[in-house]
Amino acid sequence: MLVAEKIADVKANVKVWKKEGKTIGLVPTMGYLHEGHASLIQRAREENDIVIVSDFVNPIQFGPKEDLATYPRDFEADCKLCESLGADLIFHPEPSEMYEDNFCSYVGVNTLSENLCGKSRPIHFNGVCTVVTKLFMISEADRAYFGQKDAQQLAIVSRMVRDLNYNIEIIGCPIIREEDGLAKSSRNTYLNPEERQAALILHKALTRGEEMVRTGEKDATKVKAEITSIIESEPKAKIDYVEIVDWNQLQPIDTIDQDILCAIAVYIGKVRLIDNFIVTE
Ligand code: AMP
Repeated sequence: MLVAEKIADVKANVKVWKKEGKTIGLVPTMGYLHEGHASLIQRAREENDIVIVSDFVNPIQFGPKEDLATYPRDFEADCKLCESLGADLIFHPEPSEMYEDNFCSYVGVNTLSENLCGKSRPIHFNGVCTVVTKLFMISEADRAYFGQKDAQQLAIVSRMVRDLNYNIEIIGCPIIREEDGLAKSSRNTYLNPEERQAALILHKALTRGEEMVRTGEKDATKVKAEITSIIESEPKAKIDYVEIVDWNQLQPIDTIDQDILCAIAVYIGKVRLIDNFIVTE
């Protein structure tokens, strides 16, 4: 497996692979890889000749009060995992390699970034769209793999690719969970043992909400109220949002009569966790 820190090195390899007619799958990550990331890499391995994993904690998607400085990192372990999964190249640039002095070009998606995480993280999705665009340009990938864990991100990146005619296919992959239901996340490592236990409330609340929707409940307010009350039963949990939006435009809805995303963000102590379910007709 090749390890590249420079954009020029990735491009040089991509040039050769493209000449050979090989297809390229890209898995963008912020590192500290776990089985959720592994599932994306495995899928990319199955569907492409070449697999590139990017491992980059993207500073421009973090707000000033967020956890950029403390975001967990373990590049050596990431390399081992990627190698064991048969990745061809891991791209691990310094921030200064991705953002040169006087960097001032950004990509953004309106409407879909207004609600959910976009509300409390106003610059987040412009940062995501910008870095993802750069990674698409650098890797010339045919396909890129994103987890449903970050459902709003998946929707926004898919819309950006459609609206701006990017030559890439976006593949959404299911949420990978711990055995007890907690969605796998690099941020789970921040949780102490009591908080780790308390964090189970997210999956418990969503499981109940999904059951209501799947057995015919159409009133979004009722579903949100039930999810909210389950989360509030956990003293360590503080809700950022509990929202049901249409899966097309990510706008809040009152009546569940179309494809929906039910998404939550909850603080367990100081750790902000997200989770969701999607119900399509
Ligand atoms: P991150 O490193 O957190 O930016 O995540 C990189 C990619 O892995 C994103 O597309 C995430 O949605 C995806 N991902 C993270 N956690 C999971 C999970 N538990 N299941 C599936 N995909 C995930």
